[in-house]
Amino acid sequence: MAPARAPEGRRDALMEHPLARYLRPGTMPSTFCPGCGCGMVLNCFIRTVDRMGIRPEELLMVTGIGCSSWIPSPLFKCDTLHTTHGRAVAFATGAKLMSPGTRVLIIAGDGDLAGIGGNHLIHAAHRNIDLGVMMVNNGIYGMTGGQSSPTTPAGARTSTSPYGHLERPMLVAELVAAAGANYVARWTTYHIRQLSGAMEELILGEGFRFLEIVSQCPTYFRSEGARTGAEMLEYFRDHSVPVEKIRAAPEMRKQSKIPVGTLVDRKEPGYISVMLKMEKRIRRGVVEARGPEIGGARG
Ligand code: SF4
Repeated sequence: MAPARAPEGRRDALMEHPLARYLRPGTMPSTFCPGCGCGMVLNCFIRTVDRMGIRPEELLMVTGIGCSSWIPSPLFKCDTLHTTHGRAVAFATGAKLMSPGTRVLIIAGDGDLAGIGGNHLIHAAHRNIDLGVMMVNNGIYGMTGGQSSPTTPAGARTSTSPYGHLERPMLVAELVAAAGANYVARWTTYHIRQLSGAMEELILGEGFRFLEIVSQCPTYFRSEGARTGAEMLEYFRDHSVPVEKIRAAPEMRKQSKIPVGTLVDRKEPGYISVMLKMEKRIRRGVVEARGPEIGGARG
């Protein structure tokens, strides 16, 4: 559902915006549908990077397949890896290990990160590898026609669940927190200021940092009536509750409430610093490789 391309003059005018230097030439206007949350996430990310004084050359952005994967590729102008479906975390892990000094960030969707790439996500969080992951969660596979994803709410009508989705939605932020990530937060596209603060944590922090961004796909996500982007924002405003309140009253979750805020902020050493410390000790001859210490070899 890509909008028609704007005439040449309009595209030139868009590229005169002071923040347009963060965009690849020729990519505006984007192919996002009107009212899509992906444009808001891109806007918020650009403003965050600009406010922090981060140069795009300092970043490596990795992405998978899906509408939100267009945010870093082709839109945001920095070194970018546009990878195969579900493999953004795996590629990013390799890049970070080869270049530990580079800030490696991922932007991808719920279908890519939690569906096809779910196992990579869990193990990267478990390793506490130093990556910042933004998961744009619109509860659906938007790019391929609105099929159910792991985060589709129960009862939602999608192109693969015309009578209503049978499964409960996967609570991805809670899953990543339980797996061992250093930092986990959830906000919606209504909470732009808080989103920007959480993006800052992702850019600066150590270990595995995960931000779930509950977003809108006005083209396909119509389980609660045919909403416009603006109506979806009102829905997010009216149904978001601080995580602390939901922890105290878990039954609120059943009333379609969205827990927002910081779920964990652990500040434990990330994988890279643990690995570099071991490397130093090995080089100094302080540790030797030895066989298993606990209970011998396991089958
Ligand atoms: S996520 Fe939905 S609204 Fe956004 S570009 Fe994709 S199909 Fe369009």
